[in-house]
Order: sequence, then structure tokens, then C-alpha cells
Amino acid sequence: MSESVLLKGGVVVTMDSTRRVIVDGAVGFEGGVLTFVGKSSEVGGASRFDKVVDVSGRFVMPGIVCAHTHLYGIALRGAALQIRPSSDFLENLQRVWWPLDEKMNNDDAYATALGACMELALNGTTTFADTYSAPLNPEGSLDAIAKAVNEVGIRGVISFEATERRSAEEGRRGLEENVRFLSKGGEGLAKGMISLHASFTISDDLIAKGVEAAKKHRAPLTIHVSEGPNDVYHNIERYGKRTVERLHDTGLLGPWAVLAHCVHLNKREIQLLAASGTHVAHNPMSNMLNAVGVMKLPEMLEAGVNVGLGNDGYVFDGFENMRAAFLIHRVDRRDPSILSPQTVVEMATVNAAKAYGLSDVGSLQVGKKADVIVVRPEVYATPLYGNVYGYLVNGIRGGDVEHVFVNGVHIVRNRRFTRLDKEKAESKVVETVEKLWQRLGHQPPEAVEPLKVK
Ligand SMILES: [Zn+2]
Repeated sequence: MSESVLLKGGVVVTMDSTRRVIVDGAVGFEGGVLTFVGKSSEVGGASRFDKVVDVSGRFVMPGIVCAHTHLYGIALRGAALQIRPSSDFLENLQRVWWPLDEKMNNDDAYATALGACMELALNGTTTFADTYSAPLNPEGSLDAIAKAVNEVGIRGVISFEATERRSAEEGRRGLEENVRFLSKGGEGLAKGMISLHASFTISDDLIAKGVEAAKKHRAPLTIHVSEGPNDVYHNIERYGKRTVERLHDTGLLGPWAVLAHCVHLNKREIQLLAASGTHVAHNPMSNMLNAVGVMKLPEMLEAGVNVGLGNDGYVFDGFENMRAAFLIHRVDRRDPSILSPQTVVEMATVNAAKAYGLSDVGSLQVGKKADVIVVRPEVYATPLYGNVYGYLVNGIRGGDVEHVFVNGVHIVRNRRFTRLDKEKAESKVVETVEKLWQRLGHQPPEAVEPLKVK
């Protein structure tokens, strides 16, 4: 149930168009919509709110928007798979991700989505854009994911990754799952979009059909672009052009498109993105994990490209991802002024929302959705009113998120879910993932005798 709540006395980081920060601020909402954002002293008739919560010593900010994730990536956490270490990004796909997604069914889609959505919500993410992959079992997978999204109560823009890595039929079925989900208007807090895997696994024909479907349903379209150098080599060899040039020539670029990664782009490709209003999802932690390189973020921002921050299915803590984005470009350029903390927070909120055409989330403004988080530093040791963006990026982690409201619904109160039995949900997730691991060939180790201490 959406409540009528006033959060009073905190440092409000609005992320509105003037980037207003309000010390001793208040945020009020009714019917799932923000009705007050301002100074606590200016609320007036506070009694119109059913509940007034004292949030002094805390930040109040818009929920984080994750611009690119794979919820099912949570299944790989701690997996001891019998695979040789990969030597480059393509081998990483071939040895880790593709064997995994070929084993996945709709039970796995639901369970991994449930686990990842719980973690996202507890860490302050209220909206995410997901790409799911299971090329052998596309049908109905988005309904299974939507079920998990609605049970946790956060917003998801969800999609099935269409790929032709083995056949054109596989691509057709993948695209069809997106179109099916879009045609029924999504489900509750889960909305649909179109997803294509990457330029090196899809034909011109599939791109054309994907773009047509995105336009018809007025939905975003997402695709992985030049994450590793193999995408660039493939496009140059096959088409005589670089990845973004090919996507431009096939009509994929535009304000509807969100390109994930874009690590290996040259100047002309960045200009093509800027000129076409194409958005980019930056995934610094995943890029470090996969050792693919560092995206030219400063040049993209300079050119005017809208860049949101994602996690690519790796670490489901938006604050950790912000910190990684902040640090990686400093060390890469050996320049401490290369990227401001404010820009990083923008990427994780307003910019990510803009990328997916979500004009009603990502900032705290009257009339927008009441997607709000309350954050208290683990140890409250310094005033919060100084460099607020620096504080958020350098000093906060997901575990500091106390309260999460989505659509005005208090889904996390004092770090506990209000509508979901976490322990029961965890049991379901672990049980399902354990079966998936067994299908991947991983057995639990034999019981060993405990070490005898003399
Ligand atoms: Zn990805």
C-alpha cells in the first residue's frame, strides 16, 4: 500500500535540474507521488501526512537507477566451475556465460531475479534495466522475472537477449519473447524493452526487426557494444567498419537505444552517438573484472553523450559501482580532476533514468514518482552538509541504506523487507541455483574431517 509520508530533517539530495541540495530538508509523498520537496520549516500543515519520519543525520535521495544489469549473473557468485581461465573477453563468454545461459530455465530466471532484486533493493536501487539470456528457453521467461520484480516491489525494465550465435531461429524466438511481453504492456512494476546481444552475434535482418519492434512499442532497445576488442575486429573484418559505424548504418542508433559498455570506441564513433542522441551504459566494475579496458568516459561526456551507470550483473550495490566509476578514470588518466563525484551520482540516477525514457524517476521533484531512499552512514562522524556528492561516492555503501520507498510503498524499513519473507525467499533462490550449478557440473565437495588441533 502506498502511504502518505513526510521524511523530515535530512539532507535532501534532489538531483533536480538545478541539483538542489536542501539541508534540514523534507520530502513528502501521497498516493505514490512526491507532493513536497523543500525545507522542513516550509512544509506547513504537516498533519496532512499520515506518518512523519525523523530522518535527521541522514541523506534523502532518489533511488538509484541501474542502467544495465543481468539479474541472472547472481548465479555465478562463488561458482567453482570446472573451466580453464579465459584469456580474453570472447573466451569469457564462451566458457562462462554461454554454458550458464544454455542451462537456464524459467525457474532459474525467477529465482535469480528474486535474489538479485532483493539485493538491489536493500542496497538502494529502485529501478534497473535487465537483459536476461537463456537461448534454449526464451518463452515465458519475462513473466517469471516480472513475478520476482513485483514480489520485491522495485521497478524493472526487463528484456530477453536476442542472439543468433547459433541460428537465426534462436534470434527470432528471443525477439519474439520481448515483443510478447511488450504487447501485453509489461506487468505491474516490470516494463519491457528490446534487447539484442551484440553486433558480432546478430545479422542486419535481426537489427532491423529489433529497431522496428522498439519503435512500434515505443520501447527502449539495448545492445552490448565493443565491450572487448573482438566486437571491433569482427565488424571490421565482416563489414569493413567499426561497431558503432555498423549500428549507425543499420539504423539502430537514436534516442531509443542504450549501448552497454562502449569500451573500444574511437572519436568518430563517439560523435555518432552524440549526434544521434544514443545513450550509453557504463559498467566499470564488470569492465575491470573482465579486464576489457577502460571506456573513454571523459570524451563521451565532453561530446554530450548521455551516460548512465550499470553493474552488468556483477556487484548489485549501486554505491560500490559509483565508487568504481569515480576511481577507474582517475587512475586511468592519472588525473584527479577527470570526473567529479556529482557527475558520478548523476550517472547513477537522472542520466540512467533518461537513457530509458523514464522521466518520472531519478530525481526528487514534486509530481514525480515517490522512489526515495534514506541513507545513514554506518558511523555518523562528520556533518552531511559539506560536499554531499563526495560523501555519497566516497563514504557510503549499500549497507547504509535504511529505508527504500518505491511508488510511495515502504518496501525496506530499517534494512528489512516489509512485504517479503527474506529467509524463505533466500531458501528458494539457493535451492534453485544449487540445481543449476549441478547441471553445470559442479558438485559440493566431499565432507572433510575437521582439522584436529593438538
Ligand atoms: Zn551486459
